[in-house]
Amino acid sequence: MDSSSLHIFFLPLITPSHILPMVDMAKLFAERGVKASLVSTPGNAARIRDSLERANATGGHGVQLLLVEFPSLLAGLPDGCDSLSARPTPEVPDDFFRALTMLRAPFERLVEEHDPDCIISDSSYPWTSDVADEFGIPRLVFHGCSAFALAVMERLIRARPHQGVPDDRAAFVVPDLPDRIAMTRSRLPKYILSPPDYLEQIKMSYLKSYGMVMNSFRELEPGYNVETAVGQRAWYIGPLSLCNRLDADKAVRGEKVSGDSIEQSFTWLDAQAPGSVLYVCFGSLCRFTRPQLCEIALGLEASGHHFLWVLRDVDGKGATVLPEGFEERTKGRGRVFWGWAPQLLILGHRAVGGFMTHCGWNSTLEAITAGTPMVAWPLFAEQFVNEKFIVQVLRVGVAAGATVCSTNEEERVLVEKERVEEAVARVMGGGQEAEAMRRRARELAAMAKKAVAAGGSSYRSMDDLIQELLGVKKWR
Ligand code: UDP
Repeated sequence: MDSSSLHIFFLPLITPSHILPMVDMAKLFAERGVKASLVSTPGNAARIRDSLERANATGGHGVQLLLVEFPSLLAGLPDGCDSLSARPTPEVPDDFFRALTMLRAPFERLVEEHDPDCIISDSSYPWTSDVADEFGIPRLVFHGCSAFALAVMERLIRARPHQGVPDDRAAFVVPDLPDRIAMTRSRLPKYILSPPDYLEQIKMSYLKSYGMVMNSFRELEPGYNVETAVGQRAWYIGPLSLCNRLDADKAVRGEKVSGDSIEQSFTWLDAQAPGSVLYVCFGSLCRFTRPQLCEIALGLEASGHHFLWVLRDVDGKGATVLPEGFEERTKGRGRVFWGWAPQLLILGHRAVGGFMTHCGWNSTLEAITAGTPMVAWPLFAEQFVNEKFIVQVLRVGVAAGATVCSTNEEERVLVEKERVEEAVARVMGGGQEAEAMRRRARELAAMAKKAVAAGGSSYRSMDDLIQELLGVKKWR
């Protein structure tokens, strides 16, 4: 049997940071000749169609889109809205996970109709393990984070070291890790401090699943393997975003980019010196208070470095949220870009020499693969854990100074402009520290590319997984 006899279903969580890597993953499997079907809700399908059409036009098996309706209102989302990024806040509504279970019946119907040999689904759909059981096929879990983050979170949930400290700012060490990782309660998300029931269901479903697929590569985090962290087999097949090899692939990844302003930004980038521009972007869900946006703006201005700042206009207030005269004063050396930016294209531009990031795992890995040092500014979820990985373990970034993990921007402690200026100077400056970070970032980027190239660790891992799944199919 060859890979073309294998059919895999992919079911991503309905938010860009989970959909984009899963689209990349489906494309990669399709490139290897596997039949790939991506199950999506209608709105999200519209967002990824261009990307899939490009991939399908370039040969291989192609990725087929299959649709399921999503009960938006039940999930606490506006009617007809099927992406967490369309919410004004990154907080996941209470009913969200309950609404996700409503996808089970239509998903089961698709499985029955198309008869796939395997399901690769987001960790947020624990019930897909039962569906896989029902149809006698394996399910693999996609968590979307690093092995480091999985290991840290597992240790925290199991040993609860945060319960032994007097207050939210007191430091404690996460036990049983190869590195000495100190955290505070204020830097941890609520779902780790008091795990909700659905987290238990998710963990139980790991054990019922066939294994995990990781958007990472073994050489990046050798001391942190999933097998020991969660007791599950894992295939590291990343960095997935590297499957977007051509600029045209990168340009259509994710939301539609507004034409003129992005063209002007690239014309501007083309005119900048290599490595001179700081790219600033806080992911697909972030939100800041106006005072915090002003401190970022003033810090960037005071740093004297060139920057391209991507801003999400959540309230339709546009540039009025920025300090008066900011754009005029920084004209020529700074640009603000409103809306969705083609991040892979920007990070890959030779003018970009640093990335101020919220440390979402995709953005972190994309910076690593581009060889770009980071100013780490975590906001919520496991981003403070990723900050430790960037700053302390990989040593390819500096901390901006954020201390409070929250999806509610009002709860975070203000990072002042002086801290912003200092962090930017440390990453973009010419000193030894910056040079060392750049060197390490370049080395990691080379390792990442090697991992996904023919014969590399992630490439072989995907081969192994395909062979193993073919073996399972044979005995079904
Ligand atoms: N992204 C992008 N353009 C934007 C904002 C985000 O291309 O303007 C992409 C980015 O490249 C990454 C994903 O969206 O692949 C964001 O995922 P991440 O895990 O970094 O953060 P989240 O959005 O979940 O906070």
